[in-house]
Amino acid sequence: MPQQPQPPVAETPAAPLTFLAEDERLFRDSVREFADRDVKPLVREMDEQAKFSRSLLDKLFGLGVMGIEIPEEHGGSGASFFHSVLAVEALSRVDPSIGVLVDVQNTLVINALQCWGSADLRNAFLPKLSANAVGAYALSEAGSGSDAFALATRAAKADGGFRLTGRKLWITNGNEADIFIVFATLDPSAGYRGITAFVVERGFPGFAVGKKEDKLGIRASSTCELIVEDCRVPRANLLGESGKGYKVAIETLNEGRIGIGAQMIGLARGALDATIKYVKERKQFGKAIAEFQAVQHQIARAAVDVEAATLTVYNAARLRDAGRPFLTEAAICKILSSEVAERVASLAVNLFGGNGFVKEYPVEKFYRDAKIGQIYEGTSNLQLQTIAKQILQ
Ligand SMILES: Cc1cc2nc3c(=O)[nH]c(=O)nc-3n(C[C@H](O)[C@H](O)[C@H](O)COP(=O)(O)OP(=O)(O)OC[C@H]3O[C@@H](n4cnc5c(N)ncnc54)[C@H](O)[C@@H]3O)c2cc1C
Repeated sequence: MPQQPQPPVAETPAAPLTFLAEDERLFRDSVREFADRDVKPLVREMDEQAKFSRSLLDKLFGLGVMGIEIPEEHGGSGASFFHSVLAVEALSRVDPSIGVLVDVQNTLVINALQCWGSADLRNAFLPKLSANAVGAYALSEAGSGSDAFALATRAAKADGGFRLTGRKLWITNGNEADIFIVFATLDPSAGYRGITAFVVERGFPGFAVGKKEDKLGIRASSTCELIVEDCRVPRANLLGESGKGYKVAIETLNEGRIGIGAQMIGLARGALDATIKYVKERKQFGKAIAEFQAVQHQIARAAVDVEAATLTVYNAARLRDAGRPFLTEAAICKILSSEVAERVASLAVNLFGGNGFVKEYPVEKFYRDAKIGQIYEGTSNLQLQTIAKQILQ
């Protein structure tokens, strides 16, 4: 038998994964209350109009969920990555579109700046991101999705900085963002070793936000094209070293996909909660449909799914906060939670019957929103590739 890697031994007695420390519980509850009170009434309208309600933005900043890991001296909450996971989950239980806005801000943009930004860059941008600036993370292009490092956006050295030219596609928060992390290559002949990350501000000459996509799900989350035409970026806005952008991308996306796991378990939990309520109320054959054993077993199966996916997401996040390797666990949590979200949302539609198919009830939206979990931040095939590579080595 091949030797299996041994799990690390905890230095302190390990708490149950779903056990929340007092500050984690208070934080999670405050985000849940906000989602139920302030987001829920807007969900249907935002979905129909495919438009994020700007009225929510100040409230999200006020709630402290737009700078979760930013240190307090830069105006952030000084909390952990796990807190970001709790926030994304709690918001996605009500609207996965709001969940992903907060997810990209924290797990990709702030994370990349904190890990790779120079002191000057962190001092310049972290206070803005905690106060009122939204961030976006621009890697994908028309010709480079899964093969992200085949990107064609060019960076050329210019006086005191760089000039960027190219187009980015599918960029979440494109409409709302003020600060964009843009990946470009300084030297296409160097392959992935030419890729470099830059911090680009919306107002830079030569930068524009293009077409917004009309989508199946997470419709209130903006997904936009970015156009950079001879856009001048000061040298100080280099994120990490020249030619090390691939490391910035790989490492932040490894963490970011735990956030997508959180979005998907929140979505699944929201769909399951709505279904439990509905099956207790809906009567057929003279009794609540929850009284039929077939329905009970379907609900129980969904609860098993949600619990299992939640454990993988919390585990990956807690490993990351503990400074332990989490690459395989992050890929596992993303693939499992996105499949669970799709399955649970699909069951929810079935158990709502005809009402599951109409927009008056919340579950058809959860079903549409679930699909994205298997696509962005690495498709399911790419997650399987990562998992296989780790366990077969
Ligand atoms: C709503 C939305 C928001 C997004 N937000 C962002 C964002 O903020 N920033 C950003 O940079 N990008 C973003 N993206 C882009 C997203 O990350 C890509 O769409 C995703 O990585 C897949 O790339 P692709 O669309 O080019 O598909 P492709 O790479 O063309 O894949 C198509 C199919 O081929 C399969 N495939 C490809 N290569 C392999 C392989 N080697 N082995 C097996 N199967 C393979 C894939 O699994 C998939 O099923 C977003 C996309 C969407 C739809």
